[in-house]
Amino acid sequence: MMLVIPAQIYDQINDKCTEGLALALASNEDGAIMEFQWCNKAFTKITGYAVSEVIGQRGTILIGPDLGQDIHLYIIEKLMNWENFSTKALNNRKNGEVYWQRMSWIHLSDTETGDHWWLCSIIEEENEQAKSDKPEVEEPTTSDQESYARVFDKVQRLEKENTRLHQLAKSVAKDANEDALTGLSNRRHFEVEVKTWIENLKTRGTEFAVLYIDLDRFKFVNDTLGHEAGDRLLVSVANMLREMTCKTDLVARLGGDEFVILKPLGKSALNISSLADEIVRRTRETFTCDGKSTSCSASVGVAIAKAGMEDPEQIVADSDEALYHAKSQGKGRWSFFTEEMHANSIAVKQLASDLLLACERREFLPYFQPLIDAKSGNIIGAEMLVRWAHPTKGILPPIAFLDTAANMGILNRVDQIIFACLHGAMSRLDQAGANLPRVAVNVSAARLADPTFIHDIKSSGIDPRRLTVEILESVYLEQMGEVFRWTIDELDELGVTIALDDFGTGHASIRGLLEIRPDILKIDRHFIQPVVQEASTRPLVASIIEIGKGLGMRVVAEGVESEEHAQLVSDMGCDYLQGYYFGKPMSEDNLRKRLIETGGNLWTGRSLENDPIKDRGIGQAC
Ligand code: C2E
Ligand code: CA
Ligand code: CA
Repeated sequence: MMLVIPAQIYDQINDKCTEGLALALASNEDGAIMEFQWCNKAFTKITGYAVSEVIGQRGTILIGPDLGQDIHLYIIEKLMNWENFSTKALNNRKNGEVYWQRMSWIHLSDTETGDHWWLCSIIEEENEQAKSDKPEVEEPTTSDQESYARVFDKVQRLEKENTRLHQLAKSVAKDANEDALTGLSNRRHFEVEVKTWIENLKTRGTEFAVLYIDLDRFKFVNDTLGHEAGDRLLVSVANMLREMTCKTDLVARLGGDEFVILKPLGKSALNISSLADEIVRRTRETFTCDGKSTSCSASVGVAIAKAGMEDPEQIVADSDEALYHAKSQGKGRWSFFTEEMHANSIAVKQLASDLLLACERREFLPYFQPLIDAKSGNIIGAEMLVRWAHPTKGILPPIAFLDTAANMGILNRVDQIIFACLHGAMSRLDQAGANLPRVAVNVSAARLADPTFIHDIKSSGIDPRRLTVEILESVYLEQMGEVFRWTIDELDELGVTIALDDFGTGHASIRGLLEIRPDILKIDRHFIQPVVQEASTRPLVASIIEIGKGLGMRVVAEGVESEEHAQLVSDMGCDYLQGYYFGKPMSEDNLRKRLIETGGNLWTGRSLENDPIKDRGIGQAC
């Protein structure tokens, strides 16, 4: 049977007990964390606090500021470990008066709720020193002394360990924020900092400049003098940037040969432009490593984060845009981010979002440009070239959007969309009786590395023998590995013709040529175009033709713009011709009309007897 304490008895305990009693509910995790829930009259008398002031208080209400650290830690340790204990301790009453108390703590637990409680009792004790206002800790008993010593030792050990951990944590944090090579801030730290600077700009109007620095010839130094020299160059640039900046600036290495400085703006932008000047000037100076000297200029892009600006989060991208501008103006210089660049970057962003929509709405159209057999003048096929049917700007050529699509990583998607149109177009032309033997499609490096490409061809419904794949950017092929090799083999097996595009430009390489062994080599129009006017350019074209023929390939001349042109490159040995002379890229409708009108013969001017170029002494390959 549960005993219920009669109210009168309870009141008398509360009133008459001379020992101060209090009950505190402790946290389940840590016995030193508690809140008082109840106390008797004596407790309020001794401490000087009213009941309402005690309720909700923590245990620290019983620990005065003059209590020795050893006893204080002893109390905490006991409480933390739920150990009953009793000790003498110095405390201050509410009015600040110092007094000695013997306090005892008893751990109670509620098995039903799992709650932990402390019953605390305090008795005020007379103390000689207390009277003289010079309180001292009571001479502890031997056993008390031993426990204090043990705890003190333990606390000292813990403190040492804590200091060690603290230092370790600091050095880990430093490593995490520091670039290991140069000791500057790393990208991670920079990104955190720049957010804070932007926040300060917004809230306090603290304006600042971002200087984005990129070394112009770092790769050259690395390649010619070795990585060690490259590293030393980076360290010396880092030191130089440190010297040129103040404590309030942030200098970071973002990776590779890219550095960035955040600098408070101060009164004028002059200090910023002179800093940019100095960086450009000093990086031009000769750098010596192991007795070998070289120079490595830098380009700098500067953007100013101004109070009230619309999109301060853009500030680093703006400085990068300015850097790009400095590079495009010839490197070894710096430029400010201008309104024009701003407009340009907005336009690029707009273009990017329009392109995403265009992919969704499949706004891309195939245009076709005929390819002519140089001997018969008959059309042997057409190259499919993408156009964007823009909802407000009309039909846009690839130059208006393909680079941006490539930078966004969606060129593959564009190629996919345009390829999906091809089967329908070919079937319609066939049905209309327009004779188009084959179609060439352009594929980016990304598309070649995409395993779905072969699947798309197989499921397109197009006869693979009527398909030519023009490989663009073949310089990247060596980085593409297995999938690319597999794709080429599969194309071969399917009977698809392979052409290497833009041969002679930086986009196609001899290595690519040997690796792919294409059926067709397309000579870039920039080589073909000048051959009529400038005889000196002919031997180069002749030797490209010779390479192709030597490897058993058929050769296409791109960019044929006149009759004379067509005659000349045919005589030089090109098998097929393509260019505005036979037709600009055209819509499916126009191609159909053209094919039907001409019966597929687009070049009737071929007449070797009357050839005015016959005696011109063209290269050996002819
Ligand atoms: P490309 O593959 O070298 O295509 C030939 C480009 O030369 C076409 O430009 C064509 O209009 C142009 N052209 C042809 N004959 C002449 C000529 O006699 N004179 C001059 N001045 N130009 C001529 P377009 O259509 O603007 O395409 C440019 C480039 O865009 C293409 O160069 C190709 O690299 C890329 N491209 C076009 N369509 C696609 C596509 O569907 N996918 C991918 N990935 N790239 C494409
Ligand atoms: Ca092409
Ligand atoms: Ca080309």
